[in-house]
This record gives sequence, structure tokens and C-alpha cells, in this order.
Amino acid sequence: MITAKFGGTAVTPRNLVHLKEIVTPYHKCVVVSAIGKEYLNDTKTTDLLIEYYNNPCDAVWGKIEDKYRRLVEVNAIDVDVNALLLDARSRATRYSLQYCMSLGEELSARVVAVFLKAQYLEAEEVICFDDSGNLDEENTYRNVNERVKGAQLVVVGGFYGGSKQGRRTFSRGGSDVSGAIFAAATNSSLYENWTDVSGVCVANPTSVADVETVASMSYGEMYLLSLAGAEVLHPDAVAPVEQKGIPIKIGNFFKPYGKSTLVSACPSFNKLLSIAQKSQDGKIVTTVLHSYPQWRIVKLISRFLRKNTSKLEFFGKSREVSSLKLYNLQFSDNIVRLTTDISILPSLYKSLIE
Ligand code: ADP
Ligand code: ASP
Ligand code: MG
Repeated sequence: MITAKFGGTAVTPRNLVHLKEIVTPYHKCVVVSAIGKEYLNDTKTTDLLIEYYNNPCDAVWGKIEDKYRRLVEVNAIDVDVNALLLDARSRATRYSLQYCMSLGEELSARVVAVFLKAQYLEAEEVICFDDSGNLDEENTYRNVNERVKGAQLVVVGGFYGGSKQGRRTFSRGGSDVSGAIFAAATNSSLYENWTDVSGVCVANPTSVADVETVASMSYGEMYLLSLAGAEVLHPDAVAPVEQKGIPIKIGNFFKPYGKSTLVSACPSFNKLLSIAQKSQDGKIVTTVLHSYPQWRIVKLISRFLRKNTSKLEFFGKSREVSSLKLYNLQFSDNIVRLTTDISILPSLYKSLIE
């Protein structure tokens, strides 16, 4: 039995067709995100919903409607999209902001269930949060099993669940977490996470050209990378499947048989595992995960720093001037962290793979 999660770029009018190539009779649970970006400067449905909650006007709701209308029309899905949208709008500002933010995933799941001829499952009725906002694992796993049992295939919205106070969401990117919960609750043999890039790469492929996919890595390595800014998988999506020893396959829905990453108990074979980057307090923290001996990584990083330094002549005296402000450099077991003023991802990647 397989659980598959499809991210926001898969759930777009143009890309939805790929789900039919990927979902097989071995799949039992399909978890979907809200419609994501359709082009570079597009706005994600979840962001439009936040905007609508703060300013409930026709202009913003119109953008949400347009996305879901096209999703249905382009894929010739036999669903009354006007009724769905009318119902969603009637609830959009009635409750909390998190309730409003959940509507994108709900709409996606309702439409995709019809598209895949599957059973729609309401996430609010199965994923339970306790009074402190943490997942109530026992009740959630029981609910999931009761509702999934007997069904050929269920489609559910990621990112949210229910609580005594109403709907709650995970943090942004949280559909990955819902996918992991469904995989763990149903003891799936595999958790597939389908996204718009070919698995976890040695660096963010949207910032660096021609980066290799990391074929396999451990749960711990994946967790560290997610925390360090590799947003390809939400960090909280690791623990539920790790506890059950369920591997995660992170693959590209554009190329389902192409390169992918398998996250399991086995550590990566890559010497340079991956470089991740995130902004923190106005600075950029770059984390390198590797298995080089200490002397080797020190040498590689020193070479990178030297490359960013030029010799300037001042009145006959030469001085070293660095083109990048380095605030902090830390070496610990298999991890190097550099805090800088600018993005060093492409140049650091180049220095470390040469
Ligand atoms: P989804 O909508 O499928 O959840 P996300 O946008 O959340 O997709 O995650 C996929 C994105 O993660 C990629 O498009 C890429 O820009 C980014 N990313 C950051 N670091 C990495 C990395 N090391 N490997 C792959 N993708 C990465
Ligand atoms: N739609 C939510 C977000 O944009 C959750 C997700 O995509 O995983 O953060
Ligand atoms: Mg994501």
C-alpha cells in the first residue's frame, strides 16, 4: 500500500494530468495541496486565502475562483465547481484565519477525488489536534484507519485537521506532514512525495543550475537539511514515517520514472550530501552536510573563502579584501555553517564539487 502526496505545482490546471500516470491500484491514500504557483510570479492559493481573510473582496476571491474553475475545465472534471466555490466562500471568513487557509486544500481534494474516481475524505474529521495544538496521534491514526478501510482509494486535503476549537493548520508547507501521517497511520510500505524537482538535490535546483539528485539519505540527514532550509520536505514530515521505518520517495511528477531521492534508515553515500540555505535575522545561513574528513572540508572551505578575497594595493602596501561579509563560520561533525551577508549558494556549490 502506498501513500502519495502531491504538492501545489502538481495540483494546477496544466499539471494535474500527471496524477493519472502516477496513481496505481497500489495507492490507497492521495494527499493534495492547494493549487500552487502556475508561473514564476503567480500567487499560491493559500496566500490568496490569507489576503481574502484580511480583505474579503471580489477581486481576491475572483483569483481563487479562476484557479479552481480552470483546474476543473482544463481537465474536464465532472464536478459542480460553482457550487463548491460558493460553499467555500460562505465559510471563508466565518471562522479563523487557519480555517480560511485550509479551504485551498479542501477544494483541491474535492476536485481531485472526482478526477481520480476516488472517495473524498474530510481531513477535519480524521486529523485531530489536541488542546495545545499538537497532533493527537492516537485518535488520528484510529480515525484514518477506520475511514480508509474498505475504500479502494481516498483523496484528502493536506495541511489541516480538526480540533475542539475548529480547523487548525500545520505550519506552511504542512501538506508534507499530512502525507507522512497518512503513510504512518496506514502502515504504508512507501510514502511518495511528488514535487516539481527531481528529489533532494545537492543544492536548491532553482538557485543552482545542473545540480545532481542525492539518490538516498537517512531520516536524520533529511531532517537536518529541511531545518537548514531545503524546503523540498517539511521537517515535521520525517518523524511519523521514521517511527514506522517507512521510506520516503521524493520524486518529480514531471518525470515519474526519472531521478528521485529515497529517505530511509541508510545514510547517504554522497561525500558532499547537500548545501541548504535560509535567511535568519537579515543574514543568510548556509549549511553544508557532508562526510568528508575534517581536514578535507577545512581545505575546501578555505579555498572558497580565498576565492572571494582579492589583493588590493594601498600606497604600495597590499591588503586582502573579502567580497563577502562572513559573520560566523562553524565546523562540527559532518556539518559546516557559514553566516554571510549575501547568497553564496552557487559559488560555494561550485567550489565544493570541483
Ligand atoms: P511542493 O509544492 O511540491 O510542496 P515545495 O515548493 O514546497 O514543493 O518544494 C519544492 C522546492 O524545494 C523546489 O522547487 C526547490 O525550489 C526547493 N528546494 C530547496 N532546496 C532544495 C534541494 N536541496 N533539493 C530540491 N529542492 C529544493
Ligand atoms: N498550501 C499550504 C502552503 O502553501 C501547504 C502546502 O503547500 O504544503 O503552505
Ligand atoms: Mg512543499
